[in-house]
Amino acid sequence: MTPFIIPFFLSHQGCPHRCLYCNQHQSGGRRAEPLTSPGVTRGVEAGLSSSRLQPGASVEVAFYGGTFTALSRDRQSALLGAVAPFLKRNLVQGIRLSTRPDALPCDEVEFLESMGVTTIEIGAQSMDDKVLEMSRRGHTALDTREAAQRIKTAGLKLGLQLLPGLPGENQASLESTLQGILDLSPDEVRLYPALVIKGTPLAKLYQRGEYRPLTLEQAVEICAWMFKSLTRAGITVTRIGLQTSSELTQGLMAGPHHPSLGHLVKAEIFYRAIASSLQIKPARGSDVTLFVAPRDVSQAQGHARSNLSRLSRDFGNLKIKIKPDPDQPRGLFRWQGEMFSVI
Ligand code: SF4
Repeated sequence: MTPFIIPFFLSHQGCPHRCLYCNQHQSGGRRAEPLTSPGVTRGVEAGLSSSRLQPGASVEVAFYGGTFTALSRDRQSALLGAVAPFLKRNLVQGIRLSTRPDALPCDEVEFLESMGVTTIEIGAQSMDDKVLEMSRRGHTALDTREAAQRIKTAGLKLGLQLLPGLPGENQASLESTLQGILDLSPDEVRLYPALVIKGTPLAKLYQRGEYRPLTLEQAVEICAWMFKSLTRAGITVTRIGLQTSSELTQGLMAGPHHPSLGHLVKAEIFYRAIASSLQIKPARGSDVTLFVAPRDVSQAQGHARSNLSRLSRDFGNLKIKIKPDPDQPRGLFRWQGEMFSVI
């Protein structure tokens, strides 16, 4: 079951500099506010009394944004220490935080583990040093590999964040990034196709015509390819695309943002799997009924039922019907008695 997350956001706090594309005051959906230990206590109490918390769900407190591990040790202790009483009473089962790969020395990982941190997410962004340099990340792919190793050696869960579509990226660097991530076998990955946000150096490059973001179609295609490879390797893709917020809407200048990017990606994966099954096994007659798990129906149909019209167009006006079947496992579909996997 997906854990119930109680999030805190530290816009840019601890960051040694601004990366080329980053303006968390616009993309993170919240204004920076000094987070204090009493603020964490109040936030956790409010989260635990939320009506969205299902009985029996595991609860994680998350510190997102900024560079948590580059805050002073006192500040880290104060923020993490505020969660400790909830961990002790088993009201919260874990703490996760996100940070940069070059801000995770061995003693920091040991400290985080001692404070109850269970998952560390690293902003890898790319595994191509040229892309990292052009994005002014200030670290290399080796930093990511070493930090990932430290996290795994400490027995903590490893998450990696990727930003397809950064300047300097091409097919070869995308492929080496995906392979580099698979080699690290993280527990989870987030895919955030790069966006052009107002007030960033990337926005200036874009305005001068020196950077072109991915189109929505390209982002869907890249994320679908990555999602499939990661899922096949047993890695959970926890998020695709930034969450829509009024700040993001105001700050977005260009790029492949869509409020349901994850849905578009999974619908694309369904479309390709159905199309490939129809190529392997041509339909008998002009109608095909596919059975899918009830929760897969909208992905199989595609955004605004676009998969059905695409399949009809691509397969000689074939009429496709998608029907829910409670006995059908998720990620699989069945037609004319044969089972197919979308992954
Ligand atoms: S990408 Fe991460 S490290 Fe870079 S400025 Fe943004 S929050 Fe800081």
